Amino acid sequence: MAEKKIASDTLRENGTPNGGPPKLYERRDMYDEDTSEAIADHVSSILEILGEDPSREGLEKTPERVARAYQFLMHGYALDPKEVLQQAMFEEAYDEMILVKDIEIYSLCEHHMLPFYGKAHVAYIPDGKIVGLSKIPRTVDVFARRLQVQERLTLQIRNAIDEVLEPLGTAVVIEARHLCMMMRGAEKQNSMTTTSSVSGEFDEHATRAEFMRLIHATD
Ligand code: ZN
Repeated sequence: MAEKKIASDTLRENGTPNGGPPKLYERRDMYDEDTSEAIADHVSSILEILGEDPSREGLEKTPERVARAYQFLMHGYALDPKEVLQQAMFEEAYDEMILVKDIEIYSLCEHHMLPFYGKAHVAYIPDGKIVGLSKIPRTVDVFARRLQVQERLTLQIRNAIDEVLEPLGTAVVIEARHLCMMMRGAEKQNSMTTTSSVSGEFDEHATRAEFMRLIHATD
């Protein structure tokens, strides 16, 4: 029941670009031709409105490139985090903290459609179910490759792990720089935004402190 909920939440919150069901990313799905063309037409109009000549040599293929870039940067809408995690889920008695740190993230802020980028650190304490380690960064990507705010991205990653693995606790920290802050104003050029979301045993001070110590330990 909990597992069903996540798919419908994802759909309700984010929809899918073509109204289809969420599915695992396949390269041919990502660059749907009709969608590319429709986006490219609009990009061409934007260039014109901004005073550019979209037919000049350097810009000739730009609308098409931008369309494909957007399709790639937002391909997470078509992915189901539950499917990603369930692909490599195992029964295992291990009950210590599992930490995947320094996961690179690249996302787009939903207010300006400008990038924010940085690192995610994800930990969970299993309760009988573990997941292949590579699926954690994949899950981060499912949500990062959408229009986002950093706070929601953090929470969605935690919720997906909580709902599919039902661990004793989950913790997610994201440290990111936002180009919309860095490029548009003179201030806060170097500021880093940190968000965190914890559940279960990570609510306990000692466990949370151990997690924070581990993610900032230099090796
Ligand atoms: Zn922004």
